[in-house]
Amino acid sequence: MSGGDNLEFEIRPNPAPVGDAERAALLANPGFGRIFTDHMVTVRYADGKGWYDARVEARAPIPMDPASAVLHYAQEIFEGLKAYTLPDGGVAMFRPDANAARFNQSAERMAMPALPVETFLRSLHEIIEIDRGWIPQGEEGSLYLRPFAYASEVFLGVRPATEYLYLVIASPVGPYFSGGVKPVSIWVSPDYTRAAPGGTGAAKCGGNYAAGLSAQAEAAEHGCDQVVYLDAVERKYIDELGGMNVFLVFDDGSLATPPLTGTILPGITRDSVIKLARRAGRRVEERPISLDEWREGAASGRVREAFACGTAAVITPIGTIRSLDGEFTVADGGSGEVTMALRKELVDIQRGRAEDPFSWVHRVL
Ligand SMILES: *Cc1c(COP(=O)(O)O)cnc(C)c1O
Repeated sequence: MSGGDNLEFEIRPNPAPVGDAERAALLANPGFGRIFTDHMVTVRYADGKGWYDARVEARAPIPMDPASAVLHYAQEIFEGLKAYTLPDGGVAMFRPDANAARFNQSAERMAMPALPVETFLRSLHEIIEIDRGWIPQGEEGSLYLRPFAYASEVFLGVRPATEYLYLVIASPVGPYFSGGVKPVSIWVSPDYTRAAPGGTGAAKCGGNYAAGLSAQAEAAEHGCDQVVYLDAVERKYIDELGGMNVFLVFDDGSLATPPLTGTILPGITRDSVIKLARRAGRRVEERPISLDEWREGAASGRVREAFACGTAAVITPIGTIRSLDGEFTVADGGSGEVTMALRKELVDIQRGRAEDPFSWVHRVL
């Protein structure tokens, strides 16, 4: 049972919130994921009872039994989205309904209970409202929202847990690129893959990130910012960057991105880019892209631009691709025109500076 469609949230304001002067100092240079607001949301789940005890309370450590199932078998999922200020002083989120739907798809894959969409959206509204003073006011700052859920049952047997905890925490973040958008270099991992058919690649689960850390370290050793993963079967086709989806832009103005066959995460930014590009009359193919096609296309000029996309950085140009076989750059290795135009269009819609043709902007306050 899912329960709790009309769950009421009990609000217990933090009795000792951070003072105005200290908060202003923290917001001046928040970085990413370093500082947190005064509150958190918690909702509990038990088999037979459904979701219950929805609360907004002071952010604090969560007591955890050492036998909590998540600590052993990693039954955990999360989401990430932003709340930000609109030109009229209001506050909005971008496509939170899509995050709610994906959260439940991840839950299903990890044998966790679905959370009613209403409860997911309401939890975001509640934390935004109570912590609205933590939303950075700058052009590109935002309040990063992190909803997540994990198996809290105290039990070491291997089976889906019977108890879960859902939480939302919030972290003010500055502009992703402080010195302007800068192309990233990526490392083609020769050894590691991210996801195989039938695996958990399409679920937003912490385990996928844990499994990517060695590859990320290898990328850093080779002087690269990020890893690009190849498919696990043929080691030939591009999957994704492990936290961002990938697009190529061709000389005829069309775009291509790997298809959603279960090994890549269905990014909401990816979906938004596809819709915006198609609306502008561009052809967008969702099809396998081999590393060879990318390399040869970069050499012949057929591939004009490449970019990665995801909520945190929105759209990031990819400059250099390095592997054991050597390296190549896309065009001059800079930020492509189509890439930067798509980025501006998307950010302008998000920020309420441009028309919102798909009703993506969800006003909260
Ligand atoms: C979250 C995530 C993305 C990007 O998804 P968005 O919805 O665009 O933020 C891409 N790849 C992975 C592995 C992710 O976890």
